[in-house]
Amino acid sequence: MPKKNFDLQAVKGTHDILPQDQFIWEKIRKEIREVAEIYSFSRIDTPILENLDLFKRGVGEATDIVEKQMFVLTTKGGDKLVLRPEGTSAVARAYAQHGLSHLSQPLKVYYEGPFFRYENPQAGRYRQFHQVGFEVIGGENDPIYDVQVMLAALRLLESVKLKNLTIHINSIGCKVCRPIYKKHLLSYYKNKKKDICKDCNRRMTQNPLRLLDCKEDKCEQAKKGAPNIIDDLCSVCRKHFKGVLEYAEELKLPYQVDPFIVRGLDYYSRTVFEIFMEETSQSGEKITGPALGGGGRYDFLFESLGLKSTSAVGAGLGMDRIVDVIKSNKINIPVKQKNKVFLIVIGIEAKKKGLELMEEFIEAGINISESMGKNSLGAQLGSADKAGASLALILGQKEVFKESIIIRDMKTGVQETVLLKKVVAEIKKRI
Ligand code: AMP
Repeated sequence: MPKKNFDLQAVKGTHDILPQDQFIWEKIRKEIREVAEIYSFSRIDTPILENLDLFKRGVGEATDIVEKQMFVLTTKGGDKLVLRPEGTSAVARAYAQHGLSHLSQPLKVYYEGPFFRYENPQAGRYRQFHQVGFEVIGGENDPIYDVQVMLAALRLLESVKLKNLTIHINSIGCKVCRPIYKKHLLSYYKNKKKDICKDCNRRMTQNPLRLLDCKEDKCEQAKKGAPNIIDDLCSVCRKHFKGVLEYAEELKLPYQVDPFIVRGLDYYSRTVFEIFMEETSQSGEKITGPALGGGGRYDFLFESLGLKSTSAVGAGLGMDRIVDVIKSNKINIPVKQKNKVFLIVIGIEAKKKGLELMEEFIEAGINISESMGKNSLGAQLGSADKAGASLALILGQKEVFKESIIIRDMKTGVQETVLLKKVVAEIKKRI
C-alpha cells in the first residue's frame, strides 16, 4: 500500500455532509422552496466565482469580509476572482447585468448554496458554509418589504420546528443621519481607547458602527453607555423605522428593538436585523444562541456599484447553523419512509435476469436497490436489512428456471412466490 504522505482530512473550516444527515438538508431545501412559493420569490443562481471588485465596492473595503475573509485567486490571465463570500452583491450584479428591472417590480428572488469566508473556524463558523437568501429588489422602499423578508426567514426557521426565535431589529439610518451618529459615537469612545480591544481601536477610524457589535468582554462593557442611533435618525429614517415596527407588530412577529445590531457590511441602510434562538444552557439558564440569520435594507448598494439607485432589502440564513441547532436540540425531522425494494440474485443466470428485471422496475418508476456483487443469500439479505428495505425479491436458479420470483416481507419473514412477469404489477400494488 502506498505510504500516506498527505493529510486525509477535509480542508480546515470545511465539512462533509454525510448520507445520514442528508435528510435534514433535504428537509430545509424543501421548506425553502415552499416558503419561496408562498411569498412569491423566484429562484436565482449566481456563480460561485465573482470578480474581486464586486465585493470591494459592494460590501465595502473596510469590512471584515473584504479586509480579512475573502478567498481570492488570480487566473492565468491575471484576473482577480473571489469565491463568493455573500450573496446580495452577486444578486445585485445579476439584476443589473440582465436588465431585471424591466420585469415586474419589486423583483423577489431567493438563492441557496455554498459561500466562503476565511474565518477562524469554530462551532457554527465555517470557511465553507451554506446560506439561503431572500431579496426584494426595485420598486418602492416600503417598510412592508423589510418585514416581508423577516417573515420569510422566520417562517423558514419555524418550518423546521425551531422555537423561541427572536428578531432583533435596529435602524442604522442613511447618508444624512448616520454621519451625525458616528460623530456622537466617536466622541463617546474618545476616552475609552484603553477599554476596548485592538480591533475596536482600528474600527474607530475605519468602521465605527462595528464598535457596537464586538463580542469581546471588555468591549461589551465599554459599549453599555454608548449613544443610541435611534435618537439620531433623520425624520425620513425615523418614519421608515416606525413603519417597520408597526408592520412587525401587526404580524405579531417575535421582535425586539436592539440598538447594538449594526451588521458588518457597508451596503446596509436603515433597517438591519438578526434572528436568534433562545436556548437553555446545561445549568438551566436561558441563553441567546448564535445568529441563525440576518439582513437588512440596502438602498445604496446599487449606487456603490456604479448602477442606477435602486431600493432593496434582503435576509440571509445560515443553513449549517440551522442543521447544527436541529441536531443539538434533537429536533425530530420525520423521514418519509419509502417502501424500499431490494433485489437479491443467486447465480449467474439469476444475475442476468435480475439486470433485465431492474430495467422493468425503473421503467415502471420503482426504485430497486441491490448488492449483486455479493454471492450468498445471507450476505444479500444482510445488505437488504441495512438498506432498510421492506420487501426483498429473491431470484435463485430454481426461480429463473420456473420464471418465478420470491417476494419476502423483510419484517415478518413471510415469503411467497409469484410469476416473474407479474412481479412489477404486484410490487406496484404494495408500495
Ligand atoms: P451574514 O451574511 O454574515 O449576515 O450571515 C448570515 C447568516 O449566515 C448568519 O446569521 C449565520 O447563520 C450564517 N453564517 C455567516 N457566516 C458563517 C460562517 N462562517 N459559518 C457558518 N454560518 C455562517
